[in-house]
Amino acid sequence: MIKIKRTALEFMLNLARNMYPREFIGLLRENNKKEIYEVLLLPRSTYGRNFSSLDHYMAPYTVKYAGSVHSHPSPNPRPSAGDLLSFSSTGGVHIIIAYPFTEYSFAVYNKKGEPLEFEVVE
Ligand SMILES: [Zn+2]
Repeated sequence: MIKIKRTALEFMLNLARNMYPREFIGLLRENNKKEIYEVLLLPRSTYGRNFSSLDHYMAPYTVKYAGSVHSHPSPNPRPSAGDLLSFSSTGGVHIIIAYPFTEYSFAVYNKKGEPLEFEVVE
């Protein structure tokens, strides 16, 4: 069961809303209780209307991250072929936030794109 801090979730939902109709992408960080508690936005990420990509060379190697998060401007939270490719190289937990960017419009996947169960913790 993946645990996501409510503060981190709200931060991600707000980012998704603010970037719409473009996508945002970031890295997820875990605290020592294995809860996702922080989102790291990378300075050279490309934000596109229908795509977003991480410049992997910009990821600081000293920073440990659990996975990634990005938004979709459509109501479809399923990972694309490109998403699956990037999931495989950016950790084991991947959040996709779909339009309209609420607590009910996002999904969590493993690096193969299979849905993971999660809970939001305070
Ligand atoms: Zn995507």
